[in-house]
Amino acid sequence: MNKVCPKCGSENVVRNGKSGGLQQFECKECARRFNARTGTILEGSKCGDDAWVELVRCMLEDKSLSEATERLRQIDGCDGLDWRTTWSMKLKVMQAAGTFKWPKLGGVVEFGLLYTKETQKGARKLESTLPDGMGERRARPWESTTELGECGPEFDRVAYAVDESGKCACRVVCGGERLVRELEEFVQERAGDVEIACTDANGPYRLAFKRLEIKHYVKPSWIGEGGDPWRRRWLNDNSDEKEYLELQRFGLVDRIENAGEVNVEEFLAFKKERGLSLDRAEAFSAELEKKLVSERTGVSSKYLDRYVSWAEYAWNKQVERGRGRITTRDARIVFEDFKDVPAVLTNRAAGDGRRRLGNEYVHRLFDWTQRMRKASGNPRFQFRGEDGVECGGVAELIDVAPIGVLKRVAQDIGADGVRDMKAAELRREIQPAVEEHPEILLSYLAYGARSRR
Ligand SMILES: [Zn+2]
Repeated sequence: MNKVCPKCGSENVVRNGKSGGLQQFECKECARRFNARTGTILEGSKCGDDAWVELVRCMLEDKSLSEATERLRQIDGCDGLDWRTTWSMKLKVMQAAGTFKWPKLGGVVEFGLLYTKETQKGARKLESTLPDGMGERRARPWESTTELGECGPEFDRVAYAVDESGKCACRVVCGGERLVRELEEFVQERAGDVEIACTDANGPYRLAFKRLEIKHYVKPSWIGEGGDPWRRRWLNDNSDEKEYLELQRFGLVDRIENAGEVNVEEFLAFKKERGLSLDRAEAFSAELEKKLVSERTGVSSKYLDRYVSWAEYAWNKQVERGRGRITTRDARIVFEDFKDVPAVLTNRAAGDGRRRLGNEYVHRLFDWTQRMRKASGNPRFQFRGEDGVECGGVAELIDVAPIGVLKRVAQDIGADGVRDMKAAELRREIQPAVEEHPEILLSYLAYGARSRR
């Protein structure tokens, strides 16, 4: 028996009978009485270990709360169980998952961002996420539209990564002007030795990996999207290296950054050799979404951290054990990981300051959205993550825009000698005009993500 007194830390502890099926202990130093569950997430629970194992099994199988409650009721001593109890047990398991430390990812690592609607499900008083003067926070059905789209404060963001072994890492991050910094931190803390980072064309990644000096494979997610004859023609007969290069410059096909000069032939060979794609990230994203959005409603933002921790744990456990039907034995292994995790007394308040978008950013997004609605004639226009508006200000946007886009903007504002200009010159040339009318640049960045307006 290697029990330690939860009060004084002494190992001078003796058995002291049983109560409620649990072995009781007494400390010989301070006379404190306790049991195996004291101080753990299981403390105070009326459910026995079998019920907890069953709950874990339900969670591994993505069962709904009502189904899980139904199954727990079949177990001895749990027949009167209420869904609220199941819910609080579930939260404790998810909380424990957050204390689990996985090794850092490395090698070729695919990264992604999942945008999920901010919800305050169950809150008594709705808190506005929009700054003063931009409207009240109203109760809104899950399916309804938002004011500012996924780049705005009505969405939460989850950064995730999957490496060659299939293991994942994920965490809730703040967006807006802080997103680049948050991504850098995520990479440094969870991915130790990234040889090549693979992402879509979301601007903040490009700034983050440039600063971290990591080779960066960029695959815009609109590749192959129909509806644009101009792009389709180029994509269908991309045998011409010159055209492919031009497409790369425009950000219309995949490319590699922070790797020095790489010609098309070298790039395509390298891509094939290293198997660069976003396949693993996409598979993980689908799984994460399933865990965060069930029964057509979202997880309340307050609990998002815990759901994300659980999704990470469950995925990595699955990678370790391989595919196949989930058994009680699997659930028992998970339960063994969790049963001694200390109960955290204060739950980190979710939706805390760290997660909040800066007012300045939200105002800018609001302003840019209004301009784009006017310029595009689409009164419901909203930016998407890949449009890059979460980079921060105009300077950062110019920094991540592909050279082809910079050229287009320079031509639009009537600059001379655009053909021969280098990227740095183009950036200097267009800066004043873009400061004044960001929609000139924004429309080109947003344009790639949807069909031609
Ligand atoms: Zn003691």
